[in-house]
Amino acid sequence: MKIKKLIIGNWKMYPASVKDAKAKFIAIKKTASTLRNVQTVICPPFVYVSELKKLVTGHRCTVGAQNAWIENEGAYTGEVSPAMIKSLGLEYVIIGHSERRSIGETGELVNKKILATVKAGLTAVLCVGERERDIDGAYLKFISEQIKVALHGVQKKDLIKIAIAYEPIWAIGKHAVHAASPDDALEVSILIKKTLADLYGKDGSVVSILYGGSVDAKNAWEFLLKSQVDGLLVGRASLDPKVFGEILKSADQIK
Ligand code: PEP
Repeated sequence: MKIKKLIIGNWKMYPASVKDAKAKFIAIKKTASTLRNVQTVICPPFVYVSELKKLVTGHRCTVGAQNAWIENEGAYTGEVSPAMIKSLGLEYVIIGHSERRSIGETGELVNKKILATVKAGLTAVLCVGERERDIDGAYLKFISEQIKVALHGVQKKDLIKIAIAYEPIWAIGKHAVHAASPDDALEVSILIKKTLADLYGKDGSVVSILYGGSVDAKNAWEFLLKSQVDGLLVGRASLDPKVFGEILKSADQIK
């Protein structure tokens, strides 16, 4: 998984019509399908997944999910299960995004979602990140604790099915205070590697590490090169096929 750059587009609750979603996906696929060194994954709202899945040709540009529930079937109104996602042929699922944590998703629930996702044979993209930074470095402890809680019970053999996206909350979305610097992301990518090594020894090194937060066509290469990450999780810019295409092309050039 680590040979190619993993670039995931999180479309959140956009765009407002399936017609628009298909047009954007087709435009992104046009660029993504030409790039050997990039695995592109678009995570649209669930209602669009089947339609976009029909547009997938080949492996370079695929469709993923933004969330999954902790059981495979049951009386859980509005939820979608890992088994359902797997049955559609998807591979990647974002888990624990800060926008979900902010509406009540606890660390314990994130942990159950990770376990259920991995058990279904899917790859979980675990999102972690602090709300703000402090000069004493408490945010580093906070992130490492988020990882420990989320991965509780995940066995070494399943680590290949985990990616961790560092998404500082202060740097994501249109209310971002400012973008993180590649050094900010490097510091946390090292912390994530150390946390994984403390938990799993050298087996921890199979986990892919991503950065997300105000990534755009100009800064994508810097995060990939200077922050030592294996890929990016992109929000707003992934909804603009032209800008996202530039990000994908930058990623393809970083070896
Ligand atoms: C996100 O919310 O996951 C994200 C990275 O958003 P943006 O790229 O818009 O900052």
